[in-house]
Amino acid sequence: MPDGAHSSPAAPRLAELIACLLPGAAVGSLVGGAILPGTGAALELVNPADGRPLLSYADAGAAVVEAAMEAARPAQRAWWGMTAAARGRALWEVARLVRAHAADLAELETLSAGKPIRDTRGEVARVAEMFEYYAGWADKLHGDVIPVPSSHLNYTRHEPLGTVVQITPWNAPLFTAGWQIAPALCAGNAVVLKPSELTPLTSLALGALCDRAEGMPRGLVSVLAGAGPTTGAAAVAHRETRLVVFVGSATAGAEIAAAAARNIVPSVLELGGKSANIVFADAELSRALVGAQAAVFGGAGQSCVAGSRLLVQRRIHAEFVERLARASGRIPVGAPADPATQIGPINNRRQLDRIATLVRGATAEGAQLVAGGGCPEPLRDSGGFYFAPTILDGVTPGASIAREEVFGPVLAVLPFDSEEEAVALANATPYGLAGAVWTQDVGRAHRVAAGVRAGTFWINSYKTINVASPFGGFGRSGFGRSSGREALAAYTQTKSIWVETAAEPGVAFGYVG
Ligand code: NAD
Repeated sequence: MPDGAHSSPAAPRLAELIACLLPGAAVGSLVGGAILPGTGAALELVNPADGRPLLSYADAGAAVVEAAMEAARPAQRAWWGMTAAARGRALWEVARLVRAHAADLAELETLSAGKPIRDTRGEVARVAEMFEYYAGWADKLHGDVIPVPSSHLNYTRHEPLGTVVQITPWNAPLFTAGWQIAPALCAGNAVVLKPSELTPLTSLALGALCDRAEGMPRGLVSVLAGAGPTTGAAAVAHRETRLVVFVGSATAGAEIAAAAARNIVPSVLELGGKSANIVFADAELSRALVGAQAAVFGGAGQSCVAGSRLLVQRRIHAEFVERLARASGRIPVGAPADPATQIGPINNRRQLDRIATLVRGATAEGAQLVAGGGCPEPLRDSGGFYFAPTILDGVTPGASIAREEVFGPVLAVLPFDSEEEAVALANATPYGLAGAVWTQDVGRAHRVAAGVRAGTFWINSYKTINVASPFGGFGRSGFGRSSGREALAAYTQTKSIWVETAAEPGVAFGYVG
C-alpha cells in the first residue's frame, strides 16, 4: 500500500471473506491446494466504491507459473483416469459448494470488483448452473463409429488437450472463471487460470472450492494472481500449455493469440464489441425502452455484449431518446453493496478516465450530451469511480464514439430510415459480438437477425445468455465458442482409431519376418 494512503473501510470485511474462502489469509496464487506467494512486483487492489486501497499482493512470476504447471500434469492424468461418471459427480460437487458459499462469494465479488450485489448474487447462481450443466455432459461426451469402406472398425474419441491456460478480464471475474473452468474440466483437462490482476479474489475462491470438491484431484485447477505481460505471458508460452482461452480486449487478445501460435497451441478469443440495438417504429416502445437501458447500462456498461449503439428509426427518434434520457436519470447509481443499486462504480480509475475521455471526444466531434456525462452529483465526494448513465445523440456513423468500445455506461444514438440502412449501420464495425432488434414485424425480425454480423442476436430482448447456448464473436470480437455443447469441441481433440476386423486382411505391404 502506498505510504499515506488510508485503506478502505471495507478492507477488514474483505480480509474476513478471504480467510473464509481461501486456504489462508494471504493473497497469492492457488497451486495444488495451497496459496503460493508471488515473487514479482507489488500489485494493489483498490475499492472501486471509495477509491481507497484494499490490499496488495506480489505478482506471481515465472516460478509460480512453473509450480502450477507441475501440479497440473499429474492431476490431469488422475482426472482423465477416472470414470466419466465420477468426473461428473465431482463437477456437481463444485456446484454444490458454490451454492453453499453463495452469499460470501457474492459479497467478495461486490467488495473487490465493485459490482452491485443484486448482480453478483445472480452471477454466483449462474456459476453453480455452469458446473451442473457440464456435470451432465461429462458422461455424454463420446465419439462416433464411422462406416468406412473397408474391413476396419473406425471410431473416434474426444480426448482432453491436457493443461489449458485461461486468461480473464475484470468485468465479471467469477462468472467468467466458471464459464471457462467448467467446460475445460468436463472435457478432462487441467486448468491454469489467470484472472485480471485487478480482480483475482473470486477466481481464487472458486479454485479453492474446486480443490475442496470430493473427487477432484488437487492441482487440477490453479489460479495465478498476477499481471498479464509477466505471469500471463509466462503461462501462455509454457511448454505444458495445450490451449489458450482468452477473454479480454482485442489488443491483448491479438498479442496472446500470436504468442500461443509461437508455442504451436490453438487459442480461443472472446473479445470486445460495439453491439447495435435496433429499434423500429413498430416496436412495443415501452419494452424497447427498458431493453435499451438494460443493454448498455447493466453492469455500468462494463459488459462485452453491451448494446452501446442505439439505432432508432427516425420517425420515433426524438420521442424515444427523450423518454430514454428521462428514464436513465432515474436508474439508481450508488454503492455496490446497497441492494437497491442498479449501477455501481466503474471497476478502476484508468477505465473511468478512459470513459470520460471518450465522452469528451464525442461532444467535441459534434454529438449532443442528453443525459449523464460524469459522476452523479450525490456521489462526487465518495472517492468512488462512478459515472452516470450517459446518452449521446446525433452521433454520426464515422464518429469515434460510434466505432470504439467504451466499456462504460455510454450510449451512442444513431437514427436510420430503412431496414437496409439499419442493417448496414449495425454491420459498420469490425466487431461482431452481439446485437438486437425491436419490432413487431416477425419477418423483419428474422431478416435483421440473419443480416447482422454477430455471434449472439436478440429479438425483442437483450442480454440473455445461458451456459447451454453457444457464445462467441464474429470478426474482431474473436473466434471459437464458449459454453454450450460447442465449448466442448474447443476443449477436446478428436482421435481416430482404426481396427482391422478381417480374418485375412485384403491389402498388405511388406513381409512377415
Ligand atoms: P485486457 O485485455 O486488458 O486484459 C484481460 C486479461 O489479459 C487480464 O487478465 C490481463 O492481465 C491479461 N493480459 C493482458 N496482456 C497480456 C499479455 N500480454 N499476456 C498475457 N495476458 C495478458 O482486458 P480488460 O481491460 O481486463 O477487460 C476489458 C475487455 O475485455 C473489453 O474489451 C471487453 O469487451 C472484453 N471482454 C470480452 C468478453 C467476451 O466474452 N467477449 C467478456 C468480458 C470482457
